[in-house]
Amino acid sequence: MSDMIYADNAATTALDSVALDAMMPWFRAEYGNASQPYAFSREPKKALKEARRTIANCIGAVPDEIYFTSCGTESDNWAIKGSAFGDAKKRLAITSQIEHHAVLNSCKSIQRLGYPVEYLPPTSKGIILPEVLEKNITDNTRFVSVMFANNEIGTVQPIKALSDVAHSHGAIFHTDAVQAVGHIPIDVHSLGVDMLSASAHKFNGPKGIGFLYIKNGINISPLIDGGAQEFGMRAGTENIASIVGMAAALENNCQHMKENITHIKDLEQALIKGLDQSGIAYVRNGTDDKLPGLLSLSFAGKDGEAILHRMDLLGISISTGSACDSVNKEISHVLQAIRLDENLAKGTIRISLGKNNTRDDVECILRSLVKTLA
Ligand code: PLP
Repeated sequence: MSDMIYADNAATTALDSVALDAMMPWFRAEYGNASQPYAFSREPKKALKEARRTIANCIGAVPDEIYFTSCGTESDNWAIKGSAFGDAKKRLAITSQIEHHAVLNSCKSIQRLGYPVEYLPPTSKGIILPEVLEKNITDNTRFVSVMFANNEIGTVQPIKALSDVAHSHGAIFHTDAVQAVGHIPIDVHSLGVDMLSASAHKFNGPKGIGFLYIKNGINISPLIDGGAQEFGMRAGTENIASIVGMAAALENNCQHMKENITHIKDLEQALIKGLDQSGIAYVRNGTDDKLPGLLSLSFAGKDGEAILHRMDLLGISISTGSACDSVNKEISHVLQAIRLDENLAKGTIRISLGKNNTRDDVECILRSLVKTLA
């Protein structure tokens, strides 16, 4: 697959070698269980502590606010269900129509248990307006969950303004930041975020590991019951290798964030310029305030699925929307929520460029797109 061009970095990213190198010792020599009291567990215990500190530093948190989970999906499930079950008096939850299914389906689950949930509509550009939240929130709202950046169209939400509205009504504010962490600057305290979900494989870390930031003082119920790991809040023997790999990947991405953003934006501009010069008609979804490198492009009268397959035959991996929706042939809930014309929605593709892409990749993507769409 080495001569293939990978342009679906919103689905997953390549594991960085710094992360892989950091993980290796924990598979063989250092296989101790971090929860045991003897000397053999000293090093895993230290590694766990160090990883928690590194991750906390990257998002402006303190170490005991970081809880390791198995993935972004688990973090979202925990934030939603743990918040709902954590307060018997306040029952209302508010989220948006454009969330990832990890949030949407967790909300449906709590609805089945009798908790009311409101789904806020976005603007046609994919923004959840704070005034729309203000109109729907009540003093009975337990929590608000709005994603940091959308996985299909890349829009970045006005997180600070949304968390201000939530707090003014005494509600907890959670954000699914799976697409944003490690890619754009995040400081949970200045943004007023109470809980934040993240996943390592989206920022060049290993798959199957993530974390949930829970601000000190926020009271939610555990989701996974068992032993006393993760401060008694998330049971299960710690996956030290993956946790260490996640911390190394995040630190690396945060240290190089500025240059990565510049590089990715440069690639994105070259792609858009080339597309404009090709004369192919297209519509770009979302706003300018978006994740670097994520382009949602619609081609009227075309079939996004067919474009994806033709590009694949030409050696290029792109997507029609979110990775989880590739088996679902219906128009994505995000494109429906922004009320994109059906003719355009059916002809939508997502190209997500990452730090490992090059100008040559962009040239090749352009040539292949022109060939595919001609
Ligand atoms: N939330 C968002 C916004 C995502 O894009 C994804 C994955 O695509 C998830 C949650 C789920 O993360 P994971 O794959 O780690 O379960």
